[in-house]
Amino acid sequence: MMGSSCGNGFSRIMRADVFGVESSRGISHTPCREHPPSAQAIEDDLLLEADDDARLPGLEPTKPGEKPRVVVLGTGWAGCRFLKGLDAKLYDIVCISPRNHMVFTPLLASTCVGTLEFRSVAEPVSRIQSALAGSPDSYFYLANCTGIDTDKHEVHCESVPGTCLPCDPYRFKVAYDKLVIAAGADPLTFGIKGVQEHAMFLREVHHAQEIRRKLLLNLMLSESPGISEEEKKRLLHCVVIGGGPTGVEFSGELSDFIMRDVRQRYSHVKDHIQVTLIEANEILSSFDIGLRQYATNHLTKSGVRLVRGVVKEVLPEKILLSDGSCVPYGLLVWSTGVGPSEFVKTLDLPKSPGGRIGVDEWLRVPSVEDVFALGDCAGFLEHTGKPVLPALAQVAEREGKYLANMFNEIGKQDGGKAHSAGNITLGEPFVYRHLGSMASVGRYKALVDLRQSKDAKGISMAGFISWFVWRSAYLTRVVSWRNRFYVAVNWTTTLVFGRDNSRIG
Ligand SMILES: Cc1cc2nc3c(=O)[nH]c(=O)nc-3n(C[C@H](O)[C@H](O)[C@H](O)COP(=O)(O)OP(=O)(O)OC[C@H]3O[C@@H](n4cnc5c(N)ncnc54)[C@H](O)[C@@H]3O)c2cc1C
Repeated sequence: MMGSSCGNGFSRIMRADVFGVESSRGISHTPCREHPPSAQAIEDDLLLEADDDARLPGLEPTKPGEKPRVVVLGTGWAGCRFLKGLDAKLYDIVCISPRNHMVFTPLLASTCVGTLEFRSVAEPVSRIQSALAGSPDSYFYLANCTGIDTDKHEVHCESVPGTCLPCDPYRFKVAYDKLVIAAGADPLTFGIKGVQEHAMFLREVHHAQEIRRKLLLNLMLSESPGISEEEKKRLLHCVVIGGGPTGVEFSGELSDFIMRDVRQRYSHVKDHIQVTLIEANEILSSFDIGLRQYATNHLTKSGVRLVRGVVKEVLPEKILLSDGSCVPYGLLVWSTGVGPSEFVKTLDLPKSPGGRIGVDEWLRVPSVEDVFALGDCAGFLEHTGKPVLPALAQVAEREGKYLANMFNEIGKQDGGKAHSAGNITLGEPFVYRHLGSMASVGRYKALVDLRQSKDAKGISMAGFISWFVWRSAYLTRVVSWRNRFYVAVNWTTTLVFGRDNSRIG
């Protein structure tokens, strides 16, 4: 666990500092040497490397009489719903995540084209759990967890890259009584060459910002004098890979943007812009067949070209498909589902089918004490007889709510401390009931599929009413009244004045 720029001895920390010198926000200090180390220092460092981790600064284990400490990894749907429900009178809370906000992902695609502003889909975590902002022993740390020592009950962390701290990355550790892993998943790229380097993903607000900047940049560049027809077409070719709900919603938003805004405001290039959605199988394969057909017809009518194909390689300006064809692009968005993150893969914990962190029916990670996992990073172990649940916000949110209630019960029965919940009954196991799926397809149309599973019977509908249901449902699900207000105002502004197409930054 060597730090990078502080490597070769710079990050070595005096043993006396461990858990010793208290700073104002709980972490003890890690002085870095200011000068390059001497040969003796390097030698000492090598000798001490074995217990390097023991010398990291951090939060020490809670003492008798102190509140138990719950450490939460991640500020996504699962982590935030858990934080929201957790009683801060029973626990001190430490949340560790590389972002200090939750992203309301179902509306993220709308921010890429300016239907919504970025702020409207991001909720600061300190507003979700106010203890993180004000409670003396609860903290939010902007960092990635890099490892878990389940025997010592501590997590190892690294500050996010690019900080101005004396050591970059700054490393520390936090002892926990209970650990909740809600670190999400990573986009699947299937190891296809060039995807990581050239494609854009749509999972975070900064991804949406990059997409919007690139889209507007390409629109403006394509108007420059002397640009050939071919280059104009390439710049204005937006390609989406993956026909799941996210890929379809993004394509729908783009086509809507083109129909309503590009035609008026970029009339010189309006005939060159094109959206292509490439999918290896069928689009929206989890939806009812009638809805799939509706989506296909609607997208085609809206100008989205649907291509059945498998990507073989992505080059800086073109995609190679396995049938030998080549697709030039100006903007490429990759949305082919998610799989276990590198962080999850490195954890020495039991794994569910598919490689997620394996949990039992109470979302506990068996074989280690006081560790729980939920959301996209977790899946039921095979022996539970339950299927691994889909990577959905509604799964993550309900798991978060369930676990918070369970923790509150445990806390009330004095089971919050490490190794102390052994005799406490955990209550009913977690049961997931699917409420249905929704996807917007652009131009005031959406799909609503209320069947509980792919093969079950139930209501499914498409069109304007579904779009109204989609919007109302998500408006009510937006985390806070503040953001609900932002979303409603953005929607109204877009309806009246069109989308904001300023390229800022
Ligand atoms: C564009 C888009 C649209 C979607 N639309 C829908 C929809 O309409 N309906 C639906 O049900 N689902 C939807 N989903 C899926 C849904 O967003 C996910 O299933 C949900 O976010 C999973 O929640 P989570 O908390 O497990 O993970 P995430 O929300 O991904 O959160 C993971 C958190 O962990 C943090 N993290 C990662 N690594 C570490 C680490 N090493 N240490 C600490 N923290 C870490 C991340 O920064 C993040 O804060 C959509 C997803 C996307 C991307």
